[in-house]
Amino acid sequence: MIFKTTVVGELAVNCFIMACEETQKGIVIDPGDNIDGILSIVKENNIELTEIVATHGHFDHIGRVTTLKEKTGAPFTIHQADMFMVEGLVEIASFLSIDTDPAPEVDRFIDEGDTITFGNETLNILHVPGHAPGNVAFTWPGHAIVGDTVFAGSIGRTDLEGADPQVLMDSIRSKILTLPDDTILYPGHGPETTVAKEKQTNPFLASGFNTQ
Ligand SMILES: [Zn+2]
Repeated sequence: MIFKTTVVGELAVNCFIMACEETQKGIVIDPGDNIDGILSIVKENNIELTEIVATHGHFDHIGRVTTLKEKTGAPFTIHQADMFMVEGLVEIASFLSIDTDPAPEVDRFIDEGDTITFGNETLNILHVPGHAPGNVAFTWPGHAIVGDTVFAGSIGRTDLEGADPQVLMDSIRSKILTLPDDTILYPGHGPETTVAKEKQTNPFLASGFNTQ
């Protein structure tokens, strides 16, 4: 699989560009900003975009979906519970004086158990709410893109609209820390980590994890 990461926007979001090596079909996850940089990676790798996907609806993750849709024709996919953020995109970002595209049209809703397919590659979807009600994780063997649920040494904010700290802890403990220990986690911000490392060293999870 082709797998590229680029950090975009003032809040330094990890944007992922993934594609099938046999068919060149691929996806972009969380195009929050810097469309030119994203499109140059798409072009360099000769990728045909078939879907634009969001881990969740915060403006720093979806701020340039509309431009990317216009330039590539790829449909946009997100969990339905974050529609209020999609619809409020420009207004919410303006509170921080950050410029975004107009709100994108959503073409498909995804939820736990659904999949994202591009060429011969498939990502499985976990619904991991708490930071955002519609946060999803995308998993494939040995890897998981987890949005703003867990970071290397930290966890997602729960002071924003629709967030809930108990729900976030339940999501992390029941769905992310239950992945195999050597699973590489790719958070929405900051460096990658692993399930084992966060179990052992994350201070927010230090009270012990429950794998039930
Ligand atoms: Zn977020």
